[in-house]
Amino acid sequence: MKTQPIDQFACTLPPEKRQSVYNGTKATHEKRTKLLAGDFADPDRLRQLAGEVKQHVIENLDTLLPQVEERLTAGGAQVHWAADAAAARRHVLAILQRRGATRLVKAKTMVSEEIELAPFLEAHGIECLETDLGEFIVQIDHDHPSHIVRPIIHKNRREIATSFEKNGLGAYNDAPEVITRRAREFMRKKYLAADAGMTGANFVVAESGRLVVVTNEGNSRFSLAAPKCHIALVGIEKLLPRDRDLALFLNLLARSATAQQLTVYTEFIRGPRAAGQPDGPEEMHVIFVDNGRTDVLAGECREILRCIRCGACMNVCPVYRQVSGHAYRSVYPGPVGAVLSPLLAGEDFLEKADLPKASSLCGACNEVCPVNIPIPDLLLRLRDKGKRAGAASPGLPPMGPWALLASQPVVWKAALIGGRLLDYIPPGLIPVPAMHAWAASRTLPKWRGGVFRKWLRQREKRKTETGERKA
Ligand code: SF4
Repeated sequence: MKTQPIDQFACTLPPEKRQSVYNGTKATHEKRTKLLAGDFADPDRLRQLAGEVKQHVIENLDTLLPQVEERLTAGGAQVHWAADAAAARRHVLAILQRRGATRLVKAKTMVSEEIELAPFLEAHGIECLETDLGEFIVQIDHDHPSHIVRPIIHKNRREIATSFEKNGLGAYNDAPEVITRRAREFMRKKYLAADAGMTGANFVVAESGRLVVVTNEGNSRFSLAAPKCHIALVGIEKLLPRDRDLALFLNLLARSATAQQLTVYTEFIRGPRAAGQPDGPEEMHVIFVDNGRTDVLAGECREILRCIRCGACMNVCPVYRQVSGHAYRSVYPGPVGAVLSPLLAGEDFLEKADLPKASSLCGACNEVCPVNIPIPDLLLRLRDKGKRAGAASPGLPPMGPWALLASQPVVWKAALIGGRLLDYIPPGLIPVPAMHAWAASRTLPKWRGGVFRKWLRQREKRKTETGERKA
Protein backbone atom coordinates (compact mmCIF):
# COMPACT_ATOMS: atom_id res chain seq x y z
CA MET A 1 0.00 0.00 0.00
CA LYS A 2 1.15 3.56 -0.65
CA THR A 3 2.62 5.29 2.38
CA GLN A 4 1.59 8.81 1.42
CA PRO A 5 0.04 10.99 4.16
CA ILE A 6 -3.71 10.97 3.88
CA ASP A 7 -4.20 14.56 2.67
CA GLN A 8 -1.51 14.26 0.02
CA PHE A 9 -3.05 11.01 -1.19
CA ALA A 10 -6.41 12.78 -1.50
CA CYS A 11 -4.87 15.38 -3.83
CA THR A 12 -3.73 12.64 -6.22
CA LEU A 13 -7.10 10.90 -6.36
CA PRO A 14 -8.72 11.08 -9.83
CA PRO A 15 -12.03 12.97 -9.68
CA GLU A 16 -14.04 10.00 -11.04
CA LYS A 17 -12.78 7.76 -8.19
CA ARG A 18 -13.68 10.40 -5.66
CA GLN A 19 -17.12 10.69 -7.22
CA SER A 20 -17.68 6.89 -7.13
CA VAL A 21 -16.81 6.79 -3.44
CA TYR A 22 -18.91 9.85 -2.65
CA ASN A 23 -21.99 8.61 -4.52
CA GLY A 24 -21.78 5.08 -3.11
CA THR A 25 -21.35 6.10 0.51
CA LYS A 26 -23.95 8.84 0.43
CA ALA A 27 -26.63 6.61 -1.10
CA THR A 28 -26.09 3.82 1.45
CA HIS A 29 -26.05 6.25 4.35
CA GLU A 30 -29.32 7.86 3.27
CA LYS A 31 -31.04 4.49 2.84
CA ARG A 32 -29.77 3.32 6.23
CA THR A 33 -31.10 6.39 8.00
CA LYS A 34 -34.52 6.09 6.39
CA LEU A 35 -34.79 2.37 7.10
CA LEU A 36 -33.81 2.62 10.76
CA ALA A 37 -36.15 5.52 11.39
CA GLY A 38 -38.99 3.73 9.58
CA ASP A 39 -38.56 0.39 11.34
CA PHE A 40 -37.82 1.38 14.94
CA ALA A 41 -39.38 3.89 17.28
CA ASP A 42 -36.05 4.67 18.95
CA PRO A 43 -33.03 3.45 16.93
CA ASP A 44 -30.66 5.33 19.22
CA ARG A 45 -31.78 3.28 22.19
CA LEU A 46 -30.99 0.12 20.21
CA ARG A 47 -27.51 1.45 19.40
CA GLN A 48 -26.90 2.17 23.06
CA LEU A 49 -28.09 -1.27 24.07
CA ALA A 50 -25.88 -2.97 21.47
CA GLY A 51 -22.95 -0.85 22.65
CA GLU A 52 -23.55 -1.96 26.24
CA VAL A 53 -23.67 -5.63 25.22
CA LYS A 54 -20.40 -5.37 23.28
CA GLN A 55 -18.77 -3.41 26.09
CA HIS A 56 -19.77 -6.23 28.44
CA VAL A 57 -18.16 -8.69 26.00
CA ILE A 58 -14.82 -6.94 25.79
CA GLU A 59 -14.68 -6.49 29.55
CA ASN A 60 -15.42 -10.19 30.12
CA LEU A 61 -13.33 -11.87 27.45
CA ASP A 62 -11.46 -13.76 30.16
CA THR A 63 -14.59 -15.76 30.97
CA LEU A 64 -16.38 -15.71 27.62
CA LEU A 65 -13.48 -17.03 25.55
CA PRO A 66 -12.98 -20.21 27.64
CA GLN A 67 -16.76 -20.67 27.59
CA VAL A 68 -16.92 -20.48 23.80
CA GLU A 69 -13.94 -22.82 23.45
CA GLU A 70 -15.71 -25.40 25.57
CA ARG A 71 -18.95 -25.12 23.54
CA LEU A 72 -17.17 -25.29 20.20
CA THR A 73 -15.12 -28.28 21.25
CA ALA A 74 -18.25 -30.03 22.51
CA GLY A 75 -19.77 -29.42 19.07
CA GLY A 76 -16.83 -31.14 17.36
CA ALA A 77 -14.79 -28.12 16.26
CA GLN A 78 -11.08 -27.76 16.98
CA VAL A 79 -10.13 -24.45 18.57
CA HIS A 80 -6.76 -22.76 18.07
CA TRP A 81 -5.36 -19.58 19.58
CA ALA A 82 -3.12 -17.20 17.66
CA ALA A 83 -1.31 -14.46 19.56
CA ASP A 84 -0.22 -12.67 16.40
CA ALA A 85 -0.49 -12.69 12.61
CA ALA A 86 2.42 -15.09 12.15
CA ALA A 87 0.89 -17.62 14.55
CA ALA A 88 -2.48 -17.38 12.77
CA ARG A 89 -0.86 -17.97 9.38
CA ARG A 90 1.08 -20.93 10.77
CA HIS A 91 -2.12 -22.52 12.12
CA VAL A 92 -3.84 -22.22 8.74
CA LEU A 93 -0.86 -23.60 6.87
CA ALA A 94 -0.44 -26.53 9.26
CA ILE A 95 -4.12 -27.50 8.93
CA LEU A 96 -3.97 -27.33 5.14
CA GLN A 97 -0.65 -29.18 4.85
CA ARG A 98 -1.78 -31.94 7.17
CA ARG A 99 -4.71 -32.56 4.84
CA GLY A 100 -2.57 -32.21 1.72
CA ALA A 101 -4.79 -29.31 0.65
CA THR A 102 -3.64 -27.10 -2.21
CA ARG A 103 -6.84 -25.19 -3.02
CA LEU A 104 -8.65 -22.93 -0.59
CA VAL A 105 -11.83 -20.96 -1.30
CA LYS A 106 -12.26 -18.03 1.01
CA ALA A 107 -15.36 -16.05 1.90
CA LYS A 108 -14.69 -12.50 3.02
CA THR A 109 -12.81 -12.29 6.31
CA MET A 110 -11.24 -9.07 7.44
CA VAL A 111 -8.88 -10.96 9.75
CA SER A 112 -7.39 -12.89 6.83
CA GLU A 113 -6.61 -9.57 5.17
CA GLU A 114 -5.24 -8.19 8.42
CA ILE A 115 -2.78 -11.10 8.71
CA GLU A 116 -1.99 -11.03 4.95
CA LEU A 117 -2.93 -14.65 4.57
CA ALA A 118 -3.40 -14.94 0.78
CA PRO A 119 0.16 -14.01 -0.27
CA PHE A 120 1.54 -16.25 2.49
CA LEU A 121 -0.43 -19.27 1.29
CA GLU A 122 0.38 -18.56 -2.36
CA ALA A 123 4.07 -18.52 -1.41
CA HIS A 124 3.57 -22.02 0.05
CA GLY A 125 1.95 -23.32 -3.13
CA ILE A 126 -1.66 -23.06 -1.96
CA GLU A 127 -4.21 -21.35 -4.18
CA CYS A 128 -6.33 -18.97 -2.14
CA LEU A 129 -9.36 -17.72 -4.04
CA GLU A 130 -11.51 -14.83 -2.83
CA THR A 131 -15.17 -15.67 -3.45
CA ASP A 132 -16.85 -12.41 -2.45
CA LEU A 133 -17.32 -10.71 -5.84
CA GLY A 134 -15.77 -7.43 -4.76
CA GLU A 135 -12.82 -9.15 -3.11
CA PHE A 136 -12.40 -11.37 -6.18
CA ILE A 137 -12.17 -8.30 -8.42
CA VAL A 138 -9.65 -6.74 -6.05
CA GLN A 139 -7.65 -9.98 -6.11
CA ILE A 140 -7.46 -10.31 -9.90
CA ASP A 141 -6.58 -6.62 -10.13
CA HIS A 142 -3.78 -6.92 -7.51
CA ASP A 143 -5.51 -4.04 -5.79
CA HIS A 144 -6.66 -3.48 -2.18
CA PRO A 145 -10.23 -3.16 -0.86
CA SER A 146 -11.21 0.42 -0.17
CA HIS A 147 -14.25 -0.21 2.05
CA ILE A 148 -14.85 -3.00 4.55
CA VAL A 149 -18.31 -3.85 3.22
CA ARG A 150 -17.98 -2.68 -0.39
CA PRO A 151 -14.37 -3.46 -1.34
CA ILE A 152 -14.69 -2.05 -4.87
CA ILE A 153 -16.57 1.12 -4.06
CA HIS A 154 -13.76 2.98 -5.88
CA LYS A 155 -14.24 1.11 -9.17
CA ASN A 156 -16.82 1.43 -11.92
CA ARG A 157 -18.13 -1.35 -14.13
CA ARG A 158 -15.98 -0.32 -17.09
CA GLU A 159 -12.85 -0.89 -15.02
CA ILE A 160 -14.21 -4.24 -13.86
CA ALA A 161 -15.04 -5.34 -17.42
CA THR A 162 -11.51 -4.42 -18.48
CA SER A 163 -10.03 -6.51 -15.62
CA PHE A 164 -12.19 -9.47 -16.56
CA GLU A 165 -11.02 -9.26 -20.15
CA LYS A 166 -7.38 -8.99 -19.06
CA ASN A 167 -7.73 -12.02 -16.79
CA GLY A 168 -9.32 -14.27 -19.39
CA LEU A 169 -12.88 -14.02 -18.09
CA GLY A 170 -14.43 -13.12 -21.43
CA ALA A 171 -14.36 -10.31 -23.98
CA TYR A 172 -15.09 -6.79 -22.72
CA ASN A 173 -18.69 -6.45 -21.57
CA ASP A 174 -19.62 -4.06 -18.80
CA ALA A 175 -23.20 -5.18 -18.27
CA PRO A 176 -23.48 -6.01 -14.53
CA GLU A 177 -25.41 -9.24 -15.19
CA VAL A 178 -22.69 -10.45 -17.60
CA ILE A 179 -19.95 -9.62 -15.09
CA THR A 180 -21.70 -11.49 -12.27
CA ARG A 181 -22.56 -14.48 -14.50
CA ARG A 182 -18.95 -14.84 -15.59
CA ALA A 183 -17.70 -14.62 -12.02
CA ARG A 184 -20.25 -17.20 -10.93
CA GLU A 185 -19.28 -19.65 -13.71
CA PHE A 186 -15.60 -19.26 -12.84
CA MET A 187 -16.13 -19.70 -9.10
CA ARG A 188 -18.49 -22.66 -9.19
CA LYS A 189 -15.75 -24.84 -10.66
CA LYS A 190 -13.36 -23.60 -7.99
CA TYR A 191 -15.83 -24.38 -5.18
CA LEU A 192 -16.21 -27.94 -6.41
CA ALA A 193 -12.45 -28.47 -6.69
CA ALA A 194 -11.51 -26.82 -3.37
CA ASP A 195 -9.93 -28.85 -0.56
CA ALA A 196 -10.87 -26.39 2.18
CA GLY A 197 -13.18 -23.44 2.73
CA MET A 198 -12.46 -20.44 4.91
CA THR A 199 -14.86 -17.97 6.50
CA GLY A 200 -14.70 -15.34 9.18
CA ALA A 201 -17.52 -14.92 11.67
CA ASN A 202 -19.65 -11.87 12.22
CA PHE A 203 -20.52 -13.17 15.66
CA VAL A 204 -19.63 -16.15 17.84
CA VAL A 205 -22.09 -16.87 20.61
CA ALA A 206 -20.47 -17.89 23.89
CA GLU A 207 -23.64 -19.52 25.23
CA SER A 208 -24.00 -22.00 22.36
CA GLY A 209 -20.70 -21.98 20.49
CA ARG A 210 -22.56 -20.86 17.36
CA LEU A 211 -20.70 -19.12 14.57
CA VAL A 212 -22.84 -16.64 12.67
CA VAL A 213 -21.77 -15.63 9.18
CA VAL A 214 -23.71 -13.21 6.99
CA THR A 215 -23.22 -12.63 3.27
CA ASN A 216 -25.30 -11.24 0.45
CA GLU A 217 -23.90 -13.53 -2.22
CA GLY A 218 -24.13 -16.89 -0.49
CA ASN A 219 -20.42 -17.38 -1.03
CA SER A 220 -19.72 -18.52 2.52
CA ARG A 221 -22.34 -21.25 2.10
CA PHE A 222 -20.73 -22.35 -1.17
CA SER A 223 -17.31 -22.27 0.49
CA LEU A 224 -18.57 -24.84 2.99
CA ALA A 225 -20.76 -26.98 0.70
CA ALA A 226 -18.18 -29.07 -1.15
CA PRO A 227 -14.86 -28.75 0.76
CA LYS A 228 -14.25 -31.30 3.48
CA CYS A 229 -12.55 -28.85 5.82
CA HIS A 230 -13.81 -25.54 7.24
CA ILE A 231 -11.43 -23.02 8.79
CA ALA A 232 -12.90 -19.97 10.52
CA LEU A 233 -10.60 -17.04 11.30
CA VAL A 234 -12.09 -14.94 14.06
CA GLY A 235 -10.92 -11.91 16.03
CA ILE A 236 -11.22 -12.56 19.77
CA GLU A 237 -13.60 -9.61 20.17
CA LYS A 238 -16.30 -11.12 17.94
CA LEU A 239 -18.22 -12.76 20.76
CA LEU A 240 -21.78 -12.24 21.89
CA PRO A 241 -22.89 -13.60 25.25
CA ARG A 242 -26.24 -15.16 24.34
CA ASP A 243 -28.11 -16.44 21.29
CA ARG A 244 -30.92 -13.99 21.93
CA ASP A 245 -28.48 -11.08 21.48
CA LEU A 246 -28.43 -12.00 17.79
CA ALA A 247 -31.91 -10.54 17.35
CA LEU A 248 -30.54 -7.11 18.16
CA PHE A 249 -27.23 -7.43 16.35
CA LEU A 250 -28.45 -8.99 13.10
CA ASN A 251 -31.08 -6.27 12.81
CA LEU A 252 -28.56 -3.50 13.41
CA LEU A 253 -25.78 -4.99 11.29
CA ALA A 254 -27.83 -5.44 8.12
CA ARG A 255 -29.37 -1.98 8.33
CA SER A 256 -26.08 -0.26 9.15
CA ALA A 257 -23.97 -2.11 6.59
CA THR A 258 -26.11 -2.34 3.49
CA ALA A 259 -29.43 -0.73 4.42
CA GLN A 260 -31.25 -4.08 4.36
CA GLN A 261 -33.62 -5.44 6.96
CA LEU A 262 -31.70 -8.69 7.00
CA THR A 263 -28.62 -9.80 5.14
CA VAL A 264 -29.59 -12.27 2.38
CA TYR A 265 -27.76 -15.29 3.78
CA THR A 266 -27.40 -15.71 7.54
CA GLU A 267 -25.74 -18.94 8.55
CA PHE A 268 -25.53 -20.50 11.98
CA ILE A 269 -22.72 -23.02 12.24
CA ARG A 270 -22.33 -25.23 15.30
CA GLY A 271 -19.66 -27.67 14.22
CA PRO A 272 -18.59 -30.03 11.46
CA ARG A 273 -20.93 -32.52 9.81
CA ALA A 274 -22.47 -34.80 12.41
CA ALA A 275 -22.92 -38.53 11.92
CA GLY A 276 -25.89 -39.12 9.65
CA GLN A 277 -25.84 -35.65 8.09
CA PRO A 278 -25.61 -35.87 4.30
CA ASP A 279 -23.12 -33.08 3.66
CA GLY A 280 -20.94 -30.34 5.11
CA PRO A 281 -17.27 -30.24 6.13
CA GLU A 282 -16.07 -33.26 8.08
CA GLU A 283 -13.49 -31.13 9.94
CA MET A 284 -13.93 -27.66 11.43
CA HIS A 285 -11.25 -25.41 12.91
CA VAL A 286 -11.83 -22.09 14.62
CA ILE A 287 -8.73 -19.91 14.98
CA PHE A 288 -9.17 -17.06 17.46
CA VAL A 289 -6.79 -14.27 16.59
CA ASP A 290 -5.46 -11.69 19.05
CA ASN A 291 -2.91 -9.80 16.93
CA GLY A 292 -2.78 -6.74 19.15
CA ARG A 293 -6.34 -6.82 20.46
CA THR A 294 -5.42 -7.51 24.08
CA ASP A 295 -3.05 -4.53 23.97
CA VAL A 296 -5.97 -2.42 22.71
CA LEU A 297 -8.07 -3.83 25.52
CA ALA A 298 -5.45 -2.77 28.05
CA GLY A 299 -5.27 0.77 26.65
CA GLU A 300 -7.47 3.85 26.73
CA CYS A 301 -9.26 3.20 23.42
CA ARG A 302 -10.72 -0.21 24.20
CA GLU A 303 -14.23 0.81 23.09
CA ILE A 304 -13.10 0.36 19.49
CA LEU A 305 -13.19 -3.41 20.11
CA ARG A 306 -16.99 -3.17 20.11
CA CYS A 307 -16.86 -2.67 16.34
CA ILE A 308 -18.97 -5.08 14.27
CA ARG A 309 -17.42 -3.97 10.94
CA CYS A 310 -20.58 -2.54 9.41
CA GLY A 311 -18.91 0.33 7.55
CA ALA A 312 -21.59 2.89 8.49
CA CYS A 313 -18.98 5.29 9.89
CA MET A 314 -17.20 5.30 6.51
CA ASN A 315 -20.41 5.99 4.62
CA VAL A 316 -21.14 9.09 6.66
CA CYS A 317 -17.61 10.44 7.15
CA PRO A 318 -16.94 13.65 5.16
CA VAL A 319 -13.23 12.82 5.07
CA TYR A 320 -13.61 9.21 3.89
CA ARG A 321 -16.02 10.36 1.19
CA GLN A 322 -13.34 12.62 -0.23
CA VAL A 323 -10.22 10.48 0.18
CA SER A 324 -11.45 6.85 -0.28
CA GLY A 325 -10.28 3.85 1.70
CA HIS A 326 -6.83 3.50 0.13
CA ALA A 327 -5.75 6.75 1.76
CA TYR A 328 -5.80 5.04 5.17
CA ARG A 329 -2.97 2.61 4.22
CA SER A 330 -4.63 -0.18 6.16
CA VAL A 331 -7.15 -3.00 5.95
CA TYR A 332 -9.46 -0.89 8.12
CA PRO A 333 -10.21 2.51 6.54
CA GLY A 334 -12.46 5.39 7.55
CA PRO A 335 -13.12 6.50 11.12
CA VAL A 336 -12.86 2.97 12.54
CA GLY A 337 -9.55 2.53 10.73
CA ALA A 338 -8.25 5.87 11.94
CA VAL A 339 -8.57 4.46 15.45
CA LEU A 340 -7.94 0.76 14.98
CA SER A 341 -5.05 0.83 12.49
CA PRO A 342 -2.62 2.84 14.66
CA LEU A 343 -3.57 0.72 17.68
CA LEU A 344 -3.04 -2.59 15.88
CA ALA A 345 0.23 -1.31 14.43
CA GLY A 346 1.86 -1.93 17.83
CA GLU A 347 5.50 -0.84 17.70
CA ASP A 348 4.86 0.83 14.34
CA PHE A 349 2.27 3.15 15.90
CA LEU A 350 4.07 6.28 14.68
CA GLU A 351 3.73 5.16 11.05
CA LYS A 352 -0.05 5.40 11.41
CA ALA A 353 -0.16 8.29 13.89
CA ASP A 354 -1.35 10.70 11.19
CA LEU A 355 -4.61 8.77 10.69
CA PRO A 356 -6.45 10.09 13.78
CA LYS A 357 -5.90 13.60 12.40
CA ALA A 358 -7.92 12.73 9.29
CA SER A 359 -11.15 13.80 10.91
CA SER A 360 -13.16 16.96 11.26
CA LEU A 361 -14.43 15.60 14.61
CA CYS A 362 -17.96 16.33 13.42
CA GLY A 363 -19.25 13.34 15.39
CA ALA A 364 -21.28 11.81 12.55
CA CYS A 365 -19.42 8.49 12.91
CA ASN A 366 -20.52 8.19 16.51
CA GLU A 367 -24.12 9.06 15.63
CA VAL A 368 -24.42 6.22 13.11
CA CYS A 369 -22.34 3.57 14.87
CA PRO A 370 -24.63 0.64 15.75
CA VAL A 371 -22.55 -0.09 18.86
CA ASN A 372 -22.24 3.54 19.84
CA ILE A 373 -18.44 3.80 19.79
CA PRO A 374 -17.34 7.32 20.81
CA ILE A 375 -15.00 7.56 17.81
CA PRO A 376 -14.29 11.32 18.07
CA ASP A 377 -13.16 10.90 21.69
CA LEU A 378 -10.91 8.00 20.71
CA LEU A 379 -9.42 10.05 17.88
CA LEU A 380 -8.57 12.81 20.32
CA ARG A 381 -6.96 10.34 22.71
CA LEU A 382 -4.86 8.96 19.86
CA ARG A 383 -3.85 12.44 18.70
CA ASP A 384 -2.64 13.08 22.21
CA LYS A 385 -0.82 9.74 22.30
CA GLY A 386 0.82 10.55 18.94
CA LYS A 387 1.97 13.95 20.15
CA ARG A 388 3.46 12.43 23.30
CA ALA A 389 5.18 9.75 21.24
CA GLY A 390 6.75 12.43 19.07
CA ALA A 391 4.72 11.94 15.89
CA ALA A 392 5.70 14.35 13.12
CA SER A 393 3.09 16.90 12.13
CA PRO A 394 3.89 17.85 8.56
CA GLY A 395 1.39 20.28 7.24
CA LEU A 396 0.16 21.50 10.62
CA PRO A 397 -0.64 25.20 10.26
CA PRO A 398 1.47 27.45 12.51
CA MET A 399 -0.68 28.23 15.53
CA GLY A 400 1.47 31.11 16.83
CA PRO A 401 0.69 33.53 13.95
CA TRP A 402 -2.92 32.35 14.04
CA ALA A 403 -3.21 33.19 17.75
CA LEU A 404 -1.77 36.64 17.07
CA LEU A 405 -4.25 37.25 14.25
CA ALA A 406 -7.26 35.98 16.13
CA SER A 407 -6.58 37.93 19.33
CA GLN A 408 -5.83 41.37 17.84
CA PRO A 409 -8.85 43.00 16.16
CA VAL A 410 -6.76 45.51 14.23
CA VAL A 411 -4.37 42.86 12.89
CA TRP A 412 -7.32 40.63 12.09
CA LYS A 413 -9.04 43.35 10.05
CA ALA A 414 -5.80 44.06 8.18
CA ALA A 415 -5.40 40.33 7.43
CA LEU A 416 -8.93 40.16 6.08
CA ILE A 417 -8.25 43.05 3.73
CA GLY A 418 -4.88 41.65 2.63
CA GLY A 419 -6.20 38.08 2.45
CA ARG A 420 -7.38 38.54 -1.12
CA LEU A 421 -3.75 38.50 -2.19
CA LEU A 422 -3.66 34.78 -1.29
CA ASP A 423 -5.74 34.09 -4.41
CA TYR A 424 -2.80 35.16 -6.52
CA ILE A 425 0.15 33.63 -4.61
CA PRO A 426 1.27 30.08 -5.55
CA PRO A 427 1.45 27.84 -2.40
CA GLY A 428 5.27 27.66 -2.57
CA LEU A 429 5.54 31.47 -2.36
CA ILE A 430 3.24 32.01 0.62
CA PRO A 431 5.22 34.40 2.85
CA VAL A 432 5.00 32.16 5.97
CA PRO A 433 7.39 29.21 5.27
CA ALA A 434 5.78 27.01 7.91
CA MET A 435 2.57 27.12 5.86
CA HIS A 436 4.12 25.72 2.68
CA ALA A 437 3.58 22.02 3.53
CA TRP A 438 0.09 22.79 4.75
CA ALA A 439 -0.90 24.73 1.64
CA ALA A 440 0.82 22.26 -0.72
CA SER A 441 -1.56 19.46 0.27
CA ARG A 442 -4.72 21.53 0.08
CA THR A 443 -6.72 23.29 -2.56
CA LEU A 444 -7.61 26.58 -0.98
CA PRO A 445 -10.99 28.09 -1.87
CA LYS A 446 -11.23 31.64 -3.18
CA TRP A 447 -10.77 34.17 -0.40
CA ARG A 448 -14.08 35.39 0.97
CA GLY A 449 -12.78 37.32 3.96
CA GLY A 450 -15.15 39.81 5.47
CA VAL A 451 -18.36 38.25 4.16
CA PHE A 452 -19.46 37.14 7.61
CA ARG A 453 -18.77 40.60 9.09
CA LYS A 454 -20.72 42.23 6.28
CA TRP A 455 -23.64 39.86 6.86
CA LEU A 456 -23.52 40.50 10.63
CA ARG A 457 -23.50 44.28 10.12
CA GLN A 458 -26.51 44.11 7.80
CA ARG A 459 -28.32 41.84 10.22
CA GLU A 460 -27.73 44.21 13.12
CA LYS A 461 -28.88 47.12 10.97
CA ARG A 462 -32.06 45.29 10.00
CA LYS A 463 -32.76 44.42 13.65
CA THR A 464 -32.30 48.04 14.67
CA GLU A 465 -34.58 49.28 11.89
CA THR A 466 -37.26 46.69 12.74
CA GLY A 467 -36.98 47.57 16.42
CA GLU A 468 -37.40 51.27 15.63
CA ARG A 469 -40.45 50.55 13.49
CA LYS A 470 -42.02 48.44 16.26
CA ALA A 471 -41.26 51.14 18.81
S1 SF4 B 1 -16.94 1.76 14.23
FE1 SF4 B 1 -19.16 1.47 14.38
S2 SF4 B 1 -19.94 2.33 12.45
FE2 SF4 B 1 -17.72 1.99 12.15
S3 SF4 B 1 -17.57 -0.03 11.23
FE3 SF4 B 1 -17.40 -0.31 13.45
S4 SF4 B 1 -19.48 -0.73 14.16
FE4 SF4 B 1 -19.65 0.12 12.12
